Amino acid sequence: MSDAKSPPALQAQTRLLHADRMSRPEHGAVHKPIHTSATFSYERAEDLVDVFQGSKSGFIYARQGNPTTTALENQITLLEGGTASASFATGMAAISAIFLGLLRGGDHVVSSQFLFGNTSSFFQTLQAFGVDFSFVDVTDAQAVKAALRPETRMVFTETIANPRTQVADLAGIGALCQQARVLLVVDNTLTSPALLRPGEHGAGLVVHSLTKSIAGHGHAMGGSVTDTGRYDWRDFPHIYDSYKKGPPATWGILQIKKKGLRDMGGTLRGEDAHRISVGAETLGLRMPAQCDSALQVARFLEAHPAIGKVYYPGLSSHPQHERAAGLFGGRFGTLLSFELREGLDPLAFLNRLRTVILSSHLSDTRTLAIPAAYTIYWEMGAERRKAMGIADGLIRLSVGLEACQDLLADFSQALDAAA
Ligand SMILES: *Cc1c(COP(=O)(O)O)cnc(C)c1O
Repeated sequence: MSDAKSPPALQAQTRLLHADRMSRPEHGAVHKPIHTSATFSYERAEDLVDVFQGSKSGFIYARQGNPTTTALENQITLLEGGTASASFATGMAAISAIFLGLLRGGDHVVSSQFLFGNTSSFFQTLQAFGVDFSFVDVTDAQAVKAALRPETRMVFTETIANPRTQVADLAGIGALCQQARVLLVVDNTLTSPALLRPGEHGAGLVVHSLTKSIAGHGHAMGGSVTDTGRYDWRDFPHIYDSYKKGPPATWGILQIKKKGLRDMGGTLRGEDAHRISVGAETLGLRMPAQCDSALQVARFLEAHPAIGKVYYPGLSSHPQHERAAGLFGGRFGTLLSFELREGLDPLAFLNRLRTVILSSHLSDTRTLAIPAAYTIYWEMGAERRKAMGIADGLIRLSVGLEACQDLLADFSQALDAAA
């Protein structure tokens, strides 16, 4: 291949769209084909040996990835401004690969007390295997600092918490993790790289449920882990010798891939990687539109007499509004939650919605509403719900790409009937 058309310096959005072409797909295809082969071959036995031993890069058996998942991983790395990424079958597979791949019994983790429900449930499983957790209020970096111990291996937080929208003090937590040389892992699902790159605040690993805004369309599930290049893996005590052959910057993601994909098998299918890649190309256009609609909906709800409380970081009434404005470049995400005025029935209200769909899931193209305490946060019990600030009547809303006036009209008719 000639180098005559080597890539010029391009903006991130352009590089994202042209990432396929730069990897020179066969037959000059403008869009990368989907690879479905379970295994890959080499003409020379020496090459097969070198790829197995890691001295040459290449594909082996698709449980560890294929060209389609690699293309998606490259997109995510670009979006996050990181050094490398690994993709997984779901966001939970990505989260479990980090924790099961890197931690051992006796380790300690400082985690946000405001967690995605299944992450919270997974952390209970880890506690049964001897990993100790301190759950703290991450809106206050001092609470994180006070919980650090000599055996703390990781600090874990989400950016905007689901469903009450608490905003972590990422700058403060990032600074203290860098000072203490502790790995900071940030779940960036709720903000996406369109609003935030956690690496810029000191996160060493960024995890995503690709099922949410990065795919955006709700037609595929996936997860990812990105190494931001901000953490020095020589400080991490549990890297196996066999993963220490390359430069230290490669150790962490290699171990996460080997454990999470090769050993635990949480592999993303090529078909789904392709669907997610197609979605990722338009993230930078969808997120601003959905965030702007979410802000309008939040303002409308806050002003309505049938509403008790609205939680959205874009409202000046939100306790971390200023912080969110600084961190997220003036946009505040697609998730908000609210409570009806005392005495109004949230389920009856939901039944009156016509355009808004009753469903779980976040950052879909469609607007989705769910009574959070009775559904996604039911299993954890009343005590944990209380610690997370989830009232029984709390309704979680994920704002989609519909014309905003249609959403406002739908809320208006359902609320007027309630009041
Ligand atoms: C949905 C979600 C996950 C889990 O992702 P799946 O793709 O559903 O497995 C993890 N973290 C957050 C913040 C999420 O919203």
